[in-house]
Amino acid sequence: MSSISNVSENTPHLLVLGMGGTIAGLAPNPEENPLQYQAGQVGVDALVAHVQSVVPEGVKLVSRQVANINSRNLTDANLSTLGFGVREALLDTAVRGIVITHGTDTIEETGLFLQATCGKLAQAQNKRVILTGAMLPSNAPGADGPSNLLDALRWASTSIDNCPGGVYAVMDGRGCMAMDLAKRHATALNAPLQNAPSSSVGLINPSWLSGVKAVQSAWSEDLPIPEASEWPWVEILTSHAGARPETILQWLGSAVQGFVLAGSGHGGFHDAWVQPLDLAMAQGIALVRTTRTGAGSTLLNIPELDLPGCRASGSFTAPRARIALQLALNAAKQANKAGKPLTWQDFFARIADLPEIR
Ligand code: ASP
Repeated sequence: MSSISNVSENTPHLLVLGMGGTIAGLAPNPEENPLQYQAGQVGVDALVAHVQSVVPEGVKLVSRQVANINSRNLTDANLSTLGFGVREALLDTAVRGIVITHGTDTIEETGLFLQATCGKLAQAQNKRVILTGAMLPSNAPGADGPSNLLDALRWASTSIDNCPGGVYAVMDGRGCMAMDLAKRHATALNAPLQNAPSSSVGLINPSWLSGVKAVQSAWSEDLPIPEASEWPWVEILTSHAGARPETILQWLGSAVQGFVLAGSGHGGFHDAWVQPLDLAMAQGIALVRTTRTGAGSTLLNIPELDLPGCRASGSFTAPRARIALQLALNAAKQANKAGKPLTWQDFFARIADLPEIR
């Protein structure tokens, strides 16, 4: 990670980690076509400099570029680097809170990843980790990045009472737990948290806050961050009309370790996949069922009895379930190495069975 600071790193400060995205994007013709742009062009130091004069008084900022990418290209290695950087910052006594500027395409994956690997540490250290981004590039008229960054800095600064340390996201004037993110609109300014239980940034909603506390008391232990080369290979497969057995059969004998099924309705899948999936599970491929509908929960043993080796994903979207399965497979491997007979299902359940915020 390269480091750029406007204060000494020993002075109490908020750390802003830059990952890229539209918030750091530039459009060649922003007036005529603001949506034709390249993400990940502007350095996080410049994003911070832009809002520097209006941050709450007394808040010092240090910025650090972790990556500068279009988040549709997010890699396992990017997540490992970010996760280790966040952990280090949470343990650093000079860091009061952490803001991460990120592309919105895969912000939901990063949100779930950070909750599952750093959520307990953030709570224990009483620091907020805030993900934010933008839907308009930095040079578009009415760009939403600066106000989102400012709101995130406000939320991360310890001056906001009541809201405990934890991993959150802020966009379009609202905040939610980062594990509740799901980009459900291509262009709306609140796309990643449109469907998430959330609170206004200005006035924290007490019933949302009690939901956050219920999740946090149920979240007992962070999962290990996989090293860049250790992420298990997990694919998302969508069931649809006319599904073919070959979609599953082609993976048999490959190194894939898990499938997340984006099923229809309750998370069911086409009959053409029943036998191929039996074969996949017999080969040790882990299976998680989700729903492609975009909302609602996928419950155990509905619509059919789950086969041994298959788990329903609760309220997780397919991208979040994929990260949860990767982390669960990795955690089970580490536990087994340490002589603990825990399965991926044990770890997956810890994440998927957390209470839902209403
Ligand atoms: N494609 C962009 C990204 O995810 C979209 C955004 O940031 O809003 O990096």
